[in-house]
Amino acid sequence: MADLSSELKFLPGIGPKRSETLRHELGLKTWEDLLYFFPYKHIDRSRLYRTSELTTDMPFVQIKGQFASFEQMGEGRKARLVGHFTDGNGWVDCVWFAGIKYILRTVKLHTDYIIFGKPTVFNGRINIGHPDIDRPDTLMLGKMSMQPYYHTSERMKKEGLTSRSMEKFMTTLFKTLHADYGPTMGIRETLPIHIVNRLRLVDLPTALQNIHYPQTADELSWASYRLKFEELFYVQLAVMRYARFRQGTIKGHVFRQVGACFNDFYHNRMPFQLTEAQKRVIREMHQDMQSGHQMNRLVQGDVGSGKTVVALMAMLLAIGNGYQSCIMAPTEILAEQHLSTFRNLLGDMDVRVELLTSVVRGKKRQTILQDLKDGKVNILVGTHAVIEDNVQFSNLGLVVIDEQHRFGVAQRARLWDKNHIPPHVMVMTATPIPRTLAMTVYGDLDVSVIDQLPPGRKPVKTTHVYDNNPDMLYRGINQQIQQGRQVYMVYPLVKESEKLDLQNVEEAYVHLQKIFPAYRISMVHGQMKPQDKEAEMQKFVNGETQILVATTVIEVGVNVPNASVMVIQNAERFGLSQLHQLRGRVGRGADQSFCVLVTKYELSRDTRRRIDIMTETNDGFEIAEADLRFRGPGDLEGTQQSGMAFDLKLANLARDGQIVQLARDTAAWILDNDPQLSNPDNAILLQRLRYLKRDEMDWSNIS
Ligand code: ADP
Ligand code: MG
Repeated sequence: MADLSSELKFLPGIGPKRSETLRHELGLKTWEDLLYFFPYKHIDRSRLYRTSELTTDMPFVQIKGQFASFEQMGEGRKARLVGHFTDGNGWVDCVWFAGIKYILRTVKLHTDYIIFGKPTVFNGRINIGHPDIDRPDTLMLGKMSMQPYYHTSERMKKEGLTSRSMEKFMTTLFKTLHADYGPTMGIRETLPIHIVNRLRLVDLPTALQNIHYPQTADELSWASYRLKFEELFYVQLAVMRYARFRQGTIKGHVFRQVGACFNDFYHNRMPFQLTEAQKRVIREMHQDMQSGHQMNRLVQGDVGSGKTVVALMAMLLAIGNGYQSCIMAPTEILAEQHLSTFRNLLGDMDVRVELLTSVVRGKKRQTILQDLKDGKVNILVGTHAVIEDNVQFSNLGLVVIDEQHRFGVAQRARLWDKNHIPPHVMVMTATPIPRTLAMTVYGDLDVSVIDQLPPGRKPVKTTHVYDNNPDMLYRGINQQIQQGRQVYMVYPLVKESEKLDLQNVEEAYVHLQKIFPAYRISMVHGQMKPQDKEAEMQKFVNGETQILVATTVIEVGVNVPNASVMVIQNAERFGLSQLHQLRGRVGRGADQSFCVLVTKYELSRDTRRRIDIMTETNDGFEIAEADLRFRGPGDLEGTQQSGMAFDLKLANLARDGQIVQLARDTAAWILDNDPQLSNPDNAILLQRLRYLKRDEMDWSNIS
């Protein structure tokens, strides 16, 4: 008898060809995969509307009636077909811009249809563009009131596999399972029964049936609640179990003393007063590092909050206790910048800082590698290059990862082999991470927040302008440069792309030279050699050039306090976090800074809201929350590689914060009572964790 592990081609109606397409396009192989291929929305088809009640603020409507006539208008690319549809109460125009022949061939006049779509207004008349059209007898109205919609791909559509086909396959699947197994459909519960009961969740077979075919909106929401809870619960369980394991078993180097290094720096060399937030975070890290456990701490601080000096002080603690440290930056430019920042801050202190990136080659590289091994280098600054196998430390005590989202879990894990006792790990990120995301993705890290900016900073003033009138912008830029300040001008793409019609950095460079003949201009972009990039960048840092034309290579971390203007061209092409990061490059000195978002005139509603948020707030946290709401967590930079144990299919970290919390509490409660998960009532938990992590790397290696 067939069961859930059966291949899709054995489901009646699918066959070998379509099953291959489903595998290729959606990754579906078995009946179970199909069962877990959830619809992305349901549409309530229990209600029929009358043409006379239609308004444009209705999302989707369906109307029963007949086409009285068809009218073909326009030609070539402007060709369209209008079908005049009536239900006896009034009229609505159905409009097609494509597939016209097909409609004319298949849709009959004066015959009952149910049309379905979104009402809009055109020329003062109600229109429905590209409506779904069904014969009333083919829709299971009344019987199935909520219709599921499934994602399909281009190739699927070409092969005639539509959302409707998916719906049919689901129906067959459920019918077959019912016939063979009865109401349980052969689906085994995947949560411990005591949790299902305690939280009054819907049982799994019911949840799976109702996520596809709910009778009511309520049924749908209970089904999705149960399935979301389960997803989030297993993530939390995995993350917390690992965190407890780490705390319980993995030893850490003990930094017993503060050390002369730290004290000398703090009392004699600090160029400014640390903020209270910086002090607190340093204290938190120091506590971790003397606890005997390995530190795994995420230090979160908005752009400009002063993370670099905090990192340096943590590294000085390591040195004072006889250990080496290393700091990894996501780009060469940043690594070089850290190197010079550290060397400047440390002055003539007896601390050796070296740089290791792909640019450092030959004899110089060999010397550094050897000295590192011999313990003569105290701080190694670098890019990914520092985690190459041939880089060996004498006694690595602390690893700092700057701008964490650029580093994958696997890369973090590689640091572990560098020593018997793993080094303490400090991860710094300027992308403020909303709470629900932090709990889920970084649940195994402790979190410190630098929630204060150094004193005297004036919030950056952000304005939005359209690209059709650059003169004012140029005047503003001119004024700032006259006052001795510098200007960033950022563009989204390097290579000209006809399709996107974006401004080209090189073109802009030439253009700006004409506009500002008196000023010198640097240019950096991703296609340049690292050395050239560095040289151009350096000119700007030194103040030799007044304007820096760049792509987003400067997004992260670059620090030029004298720069007071950030112009972002084609701002509509950037995500919120990215815009905020870019803006963070200015406002680092005491003077007023400006950020100018330049966009084309026509903007989508979402883009306009993004731009509005940017002009309204400077708070990175608010922006990150908004970003999460707009884009969904899957799109957030780095979430795919940031250590999330498994994909979330249904749960949405932005919207399901309460379920995240419940899942976390439940996981904690289980682990408190049954740390080994050895209680027979919990047997399913280990099985499930193993099953869900089947494609994952070994978690015990993840720092
Ligand atoms: P980020 O957190 O974005 O990495 P940085 O560490 O680059 O920020 O610091 C931004 C700027 O603020 C640097 O010029 C740094 O020297 C300065 N800075 C850091 N902490 C303080 C402080 N407590 N008081 C004054 N300036 C500070
Ligand atoms: Mg930084």
